[in-house]
Amino acid sequence: MFENLSERLSGVFDRLTKQGALSEEDVKTALREVRVALLEADVSLPVARDFVKKVQEQATGQAVTKSITPGQQVVKIVHDALVDVLRGEDDPGKLKIDNPPAPILMVGLQGSGKTTTTGKLAKRLKEKEGKKVLMASLDVYRPAAMDQLSVLGAQIGVDTLPIVPGQKPVDIAKRAKQQATLGGYDVYMLDTAGRLHIDEVLMDEVEQVRNVVTPRETLLVVDGLTGQVAVEVAEEFDAKVGISGVVLTRMDGDGRGGAALSMRAVTGKPIRFVGLGEKMDALETFEPDRIAGRILG
Ligand code: GDP
Repeated sequence: MFENLSERLSGVFDRLTKQGALSEEDVKTALREVRVALLEADVSLPVARDFVKKVQEQATGQAVTKSITPGQQVVKIVHDALVDVLRGEDDPGKLKIDNPPAPILMVGLQGSGKTTTTGKLAKRLKEKEGKKVLMASLDVYRPAAMDQLSVLGAQIGVDTLPIVPGQKPVDIAKRAKQQATLGGYDVYMLDTAGRLHIDEVLMDEVEQVRNVVTPRETLLVVDGLTGQVAVEVAEEFDAKVGISGVVLTRMDGDGRGGAALSMRAVTGKPIRFVGLGEKMDALETFEPDRIAGRILG
């Protein structure tokens, strides 16, 4: 579907460049290709523009290294610049869950993969870090969502808070906190309700829950295939409830991962994990190198 940018750049460059340094004209030509590729990878226009400008400044006048071709050199400069923007935290997979029981608030739109990601993270915390985890669904609008979390819990061997019909999200959150404290849990994860679109009711509800539990981490789950929408969702959630990190789901799809770049450039929030499928093991710590490679193709 996409042309391979690395090859395209190498081609353009190796035709153009004479020996010596990378000329401004050469760099410009190559960066036109980069801009197109970024847009194809669903990076937003202002982000693509800024990025290209930055790389142009870095690349122009750089001495051509003997061991690699000028094309390869530009590919490397672009790759390093991508990694630079994408890198948020040194260890994005390390959640702040000292001081038990640590609340983790999971937020996002309906269908983003929030419940699935809650299960995946719980499993990871249990298996990789030996944590005792409690999960609770606050989705009082969709009983099926509550059942879904219980089913996942049973599947991965993680406790879920018993469902009490008719309780409000804030009261469920209080109950989760209490049970987590009494039960000696290290972490309790609150899977909040999502809507198809951001609305006031949703935001107010999340805000109330946040005020009750003071989460150690508020993770926004967004569909990595939605590009610009993902970025808007992140900005709105961050403005209203404050997020500590982002999980990009559906990165197993055929998208090029441009949402990751826009997300970092626009919100400044660290991407912590990527979802790579529907199975409970399909969650990985975010690696800037891999996404940069994917954007470059
Ligand atoms: P929620 O409404 O945000 O809680 O979304 P769900 O967790 O119910 O997920 C919606 C659908 O997306 C389900 O069919 C999940 O199996 C699927 N899903 C979640 N994460 C991923 C992912 O990383 N990759 C793929 N391919 N599917 C995912």
